[in-house]
Order: sequence, then structure tokens, then C-alpha cells
Amino acid sequence: MSCLKTLILGGTGEASQLAALLAGDARFAPLLSLAGRTQAPRLPDIPWRTGGFGGAAGLAAYLAARRVQALVVATHPFAANIRANAVAAAGRSQTPLLLILRPPWQAAAGDDWSQVADMAQAARALGAVRKRVFLTVGRQELAPFAAAPWHDYLIRSVDPPPPEALPPRARVISARGPFSEAQDYQLLREARIEILVSKNAGGAATQGKLLAARALGLPVVLVARPPEPDLAGLAHATTADALGALAWLVQLHAADSPACRGV
Ligand code: NAP
Repeated sequence: MSCLKTLILGGTGEASQLAALLAGDARFAPLLSLAGRTQAPRLPDIPWRTGGFGGAAGLAAYLAARRVQALVVATHPFAANIRANAVAAAGRSQTPLLLILRPPWQAAAGDDWSQVADMAQAARALGAVRKRVFLTVGRQELAPFAAAPWHDYLIRSVDPPPPEALPPRARVISARGPFSEAQDYQLLREARIEILVSKNAGGAATQGKLLAARALGLPVVLVARPPEPDLAGLAHATTADALGALAWLVQLHAADSPACRGV
């Protein structure tokens, strides 16, 4: 039996989908790595681990020590640190690298989007007049909204934010996507939301709120992504989704069929 030792840096739907595609496939010995941020993450049917590696150097050492033969970066587009670390570590350890680059959302007819560079700008873009705001930026990036304490915030996050992280007039819904357009349409109407704030995460799982905002004629403040790491001079591949990642792994496996030992 031969298999390809594959480390998947995850925390996203694409990583879970790839894990499901690789589960039980004897060509691969996959390991899914999670940061360990969510209290009860969705666990895959493949081996997994949690916690940081200790920066780019730690990850490079991990890849070398475990003789990882394929590194798939399936992290969230806003997780800039781990993406940069992965690129640096793959370069140092000469590990074949694939990045899943989820396309950002693009405005279409009927959308009323203000695109801003960061959370502080997003908080300012809400304006001086009190509004009911639907805030879906994750529980770790709420601090800038304390500077706009006159708004009423409805915050949705997987785990509830700590109370001290909340702006004063906040209500929290703890929920894990995917969320459909119909679900979010109902939520926005029931909460009488007047404006939304979201990261430009891309993907279908959390797009429902944008489609619902379009249907309801609501404005959206959309925070732009951090830049992708510099890949110049580094051998790598990119794809848009889990199926593309599987195709890359199959190709790599066909080119190099090592002994099957696991990561
Ligand atoms: P980040 O700022 O890029 O990463 C911070 C540190 O967390 C990294 O330097 C690394 O620690 C560790 N880390 C991150 N992802 C890891 C992984 N998959 N496996 C092992 N260690 C990991 O990341 P973040 O924005 O805090 O996001 C944390 C995780 O949540 C990511 O895996 C991401 O895919 C997921 N996520 C993030 C967002 C978002 O909006 N940022 C949204 C949904 C899901 P060391 O340096 O010690 O290795």
C-alpha cells in the first residue's frame, strides 16, 4: 500500500469537504489541523489535531519531522497569519503546497455595498445615526464597534463572544452555518435590521445574508480581505475548492507513491 502524507490546514468548509473526500481513500494519509478556536468544532472522519505550530519555523519543523508530502492550505481567507506561515514553511521545508483560494463575493444588480478596508472603517461606515446592525464578523473582531456604541447590534457567531468584547447595545445569536437566504431573510426581517456588516469571506455557506439583504434592499458594509501571502519564486498550486484540491492530490500521488505511514 502506498499513500501520500497530507497535512490540511483547516477551520473552513472546504477543509471539512476535503477531509470527507479523503476519508477512507487508501492513496492518502491525511491529517486535518485546526487552530482550536471553536469550543465544539465539527470533527472529520480522518485523523485531526488542534493548536498552533509555533509560527512559520514551528510549522516547517513539523512538516520536516513528519515528512509531510503535501500541504493544503484550506484556512479562512481572513486567517492571514497561518496562511503566511504556511507559505514560508512550505518554502523552507520544500513541501509541495496547494492553496485553496475561495473567490470573494462580487456585487450584483440590486446590491448596496460599501467596501471598507478594516473593522475600524466598518464601524465608522455605520454612521452617526442609531441603526439596527447585523454584525457577522466573528467574535474576535468586535472591539472597533465599541467606538460606535449608539447602534443596536445583533451579533451572530459560532461561539458566544466574551461579555467584555461586546459593544454596549448587543444581542448575540450563537449559530454555525451554513445559513440559507430564506433563513437569513426571516432573521433580518424579524430583527428589523437596517444594515449589515460582514467580512468578504466568499463561498456559499454564509452568502445567504447578502442575498437576503439584496432582496430587502438593505445596505451592507463589506470588509475587504487581507492580501494573500507573496508566492513569488515558490513552487505552488492554487484551486478554488475541495474538489480541485482532491484533483491536485491525486496527481501528486500518481507522481510519487511513498510507503504508507501516516503523518
Ligand atoms: P490566524 O490569525 O491566521 O492564525 C493565528 C495563529 O493560530 C497561527 O499563527 C497559528 O499559530 C494558529 N492557527 C491558525 N490556523 C491554524 C490551523 N488550521 N491549524 C493550526 N494552527 C492554526 O487565524 P485566525 O484568523 O485566528 O483563525 C483561526 C482559525 O479559524 C483558522 O484555522 C481559520 O481557518 C479559522 N477561521 C477563521 C476565520 C476568520 O475570519 N479569521 C473565520 C472562520 C474560520 P502558530 O503560529 O502557533 O502556528
